[in-house]
Amino acid sequence: MLPALVANQIAAGEVVERPASVVKELVENAIDAGATRIAVELEGGGIELVRVTDDGSGIHAEDLLLAVAPHATSKIASAQDLDGVATLGFRGEALASIASVARVSIRSRTSAEAAASVLEVEGDACGAVRPAAGPVGTSLAVRNLFFNTPARRKFLRTPATEQERCLDVLRHVAMAHPAVGFAATVEGRRPLDLPAGQSPKERAVAILGRELAGQLIEVHADEFDDSRGVAIWGLAGLPAIARGTNKSQHVFVNGRAIRDRTIAHAIAEAYRGLIEPSRFPTVVLMLEMSPAGIDVNVHPAKAEVRFRDSSLVHSAVLRALRRALQGADLTPTYGDVRGGVVKGLPPELPGSGIVAQGGAAAGGPDDPAGATARFVGYFQRFAPGRPDATLADAIAGTVPAGTPGGATAGSAPPPRPSPALESPSLVPTAPASRVLQVHNSYLVTQDEQGVVIIDQHALHERVMFEYLLARVRSGGLESQRLLAPAPVPASAGQLRRLEEVAPLLARIGVSAAALGPATIGVHAFPTFLFDRGVDPVEFMRELLDKADAGLFSGGGSAGGAGGENADEDALRDVLDMMSCKAAVKAGDHLSDIELGELVKLRGDVERSSNCPHGRPTSIRLTIRELEKLFGRA
Ligand code: ADP
Ligand code: MG
Repeated sequence: MLPALVANQIAAGEVVERPASVVKELVENAIDAGATRIAVELEGGGIELVRVTDDGSGIHAEDLLLAVAPHATSKIASAQDLDGVATLGFRGEALASIASVARVSIRSRTSAEAAASVLEVEGDACGAVRPAAGPVGTSLAVRNLFFNTPARRKFLRTPATEQERCLDVLRHVAMAHPAVGFAATVEGRRPLDLPAGQSPKERAVAILGRELAGQLIEVHADEFDDSRGVAIWGLAGLPAIARGTNKSQHVFVNGRAIRDRTIAHAIAEAYRGLIEPSRFPTVVLMLEMSPAGIDVNVHPAKAEVRFRDSSLVHSAVLRALRRALQGADLTPTYGDVRGGVVKGLPPELPGSGIVAQGGAAAGGPDDPAGATARFVGYFQRFAPGRPDATLADAIAGTVPAGTPGGATAGSAPPPRPSPALESPSLVPTAPASRVLQVHNSYLVTQDEQGVVIIDQHALHERVMFEYLLARVRSGGLESQRLLAPAPVPASAGQLRRLEEVAPLLARIGVSAAALGPATIGVHAFPTFLFDRGVDPVEFMRELLDKADAGLFSGGGSAGGAGGENADEDALRDVLDMMSCKAAVKAGDHLSDIELGELVKLRGDVERSSNCPHGRPTSIRLTIRELEKLFGRA
């Protein structure tokens, strides 16, 4: 048997890593005790002192010794209770662990007691419970963390860093408990002061920063996920406020702050193509589900949970975020992309306040499936050979040049109404606005909020991408057999891997087989790429090189649900490459009708605000910004 102190210190190794872990455990205890106000004091980055004072239920004098005893918890009584934990704590380990590696003093009083009691514990020396003066509630001070385990103390960073981590933890926990007031005091300063009784939105905005208020879209998913047992509320940051770290992602399940790979993957997936892959969107997500649906007892610091049905959680999060993002105007303003260079503008620019309520009724205009159907329908109306095919086809590349009905810039039929475009567009574009092409590269137009400048290649790339994706999903791309196979030089490795990529190639309409010891023959090629003048040999060579670099193996996906995701990632990588090749280039002249069609497609295509690589396709210079720039406002 290990001595109790050593056993507790071993447990502390898992629970108490640094001052921030102390802050987390103490604050969670205060929340479990029903506190409405929690004050946190830090000295020396929390290494010298962490004191948490609450106005919660308090601990009765008779229970004080029990509170610091290992495996003593008032929150659960049996193993069955573990299946329905509704409190943040349940392991009964935190106070005992903390007391084994620090000097702890507790003062507490319940409403049934006339006076408070104090208890001091330090290592394995436990004092006696003594009466003291004090209000109802608990004040717990933790001094000289790791004073008796110098090796662990060495792993701590500078007080400034530890302090920042303490405050991060506090912000994180506070976000999930907007009804509770939080105040942090550090050497006479108040780095955090959050009033009690805030709404979840007020609290989240107060923590993320008021300047971001106009950049957050509200996410709601109760109505359509209710039947499946997950309710979601949250805020999704516009692509422009994505960050280089995941620090601005706050995920909670039943009020518990967690890290979770499944959810992180769903978030990344929802923003895929809207931000550059190396960046992290700002997201607050609060999931509520039956406690029976999660196992909270899988991590010593309770920072992770295990979902009984993680694919349900993944799809619920993905759908909720996608829906919110699709319903919002994501075009960044000039100020957004310049990182706030246009100073002094209030954050609430018209139309970008808290912009969208994500939870429109299923089947409504925000319904992703419906949007896809409309979208595919749009292109099918311009199927090759249709007499009413227009330049949209030339742009979309769906009409082989020279076929009857395949109009070209010179022989455009008169403009006709486009019923598909009358459906509510995802990005409002002013109707019948003039479009100007500048330097054969950018399009300039206006909408009700200001001037919109479009990168023609980036936008067309996105349009192509969505078109191809819809086509592949609804049965694959049309392809054309070559009279003789086109020979592509290939390495032995590439030849070996050909079998692996064959199913993917088939989905995009490419058929290829070994033609010799160092040659791959392309037998069929997507009609769509032929029409856009893409050379099969060049395309195939590039594709093989990218496969060598592991691009199509789905290795870029952040974990998640395995095979299917990897296939989907690989498909998107290939489609990405195809759309880039097929899209109009910077420098290509476009006719007025082509310009008009492209701008209209912008309103009809999902995620048209960003190209498949996540760069913006369009930037808006708002009227407010113009006024500011010209010194009129
Ligand atoms: P757990 O939170 O897992 O129950 P802890 O070691 O964190 O275990 O706390 C042990 C017990 O001490 C809790 O179950 C609770 O009864 C009591 N306790 C701790 N902190 C407080 C507090 N701030 N207010 C009231 N009771 C508390
Ligand atoms: Mg606890």
